[in-house]
Amino acid sequence: MRTHPHTLQAIQWSVVASYVLLVAGPAFLPLPPETAHWYESLVVTAQWLFWGIWWPLVILSMFVLGRTWCGVFCPEGTLTEAASRHGLGRGVPAWMRWGGWPFVAFAVTTIFGQLVSVYQYAAATLLVLGGSTVAAIVVGFVYGRGKRVWCRHLCPVNGVFAVLSRVSPLHYRVDAAGWAANAAHIPVHPVNCAPMVRTSSIDGSLPG
Ligand code: SF4
Repeated sequence: MRTHPHTLQAIQWSVVASYVLLVAGPAFLPLPPETAHWYESLVVTAQWLFWGIWWPLVILSMFVLGRTWCGVFCPEGTLTEAASRHGLGRGVPAWMRWGGWPFVAFAVTTIFGQLVSVYQYAAATLLVLGGSTVAAIVVGFVYGRGKRVWCRHLCPVNGVFAVLSRVSPLHYRVDAAGWAANAAHIPVHPVNCAPMVRTSSIDGSLPG
């Protein structure tokens, strides 16, 4: 990932474009009849692609590829990191370090999503997911310098993904002895770990 940053960014921004197309686009199209099939309405097609294919694949990827989704594909992670690079660069406030925020955010998002029928209406999808994405961008713009403060402290699905990814056969492991032995002799390339994980001591999937 460090040696191919342009490829990584091309993937990330392609996913952002697809995300905007599927989540925001349908909300501005006319509401389809309830009986419309996917081949009769772009709105139904987008909903089917997002909730029927995209979202299940994201969940499935946690079991198989661990947190690869977060590091490589997640549009919200890409956007909050990009905003953080050009933002105010403030430090993480004490209130944000409270460990319960991801649970609260997950509960509020889930309940609100059910109340507005997030799976059925394009406008509801945009309201719930778009609201979360805008919040991620704002947090990224205000806090951190190129870091994913949102992912580390507030993302509603971070806790769930951390649990699901624990069963994945793919995970990170650091050669702690090699790291310690070489750190003193080899010029060290600083590791910019956007989610602020202590890379020298990772063992297992990324902590939530
Ligand atoms: S922690 Fe949340 S916002 Fe961050 S990359 Fe993972 S899913 Fe996306």
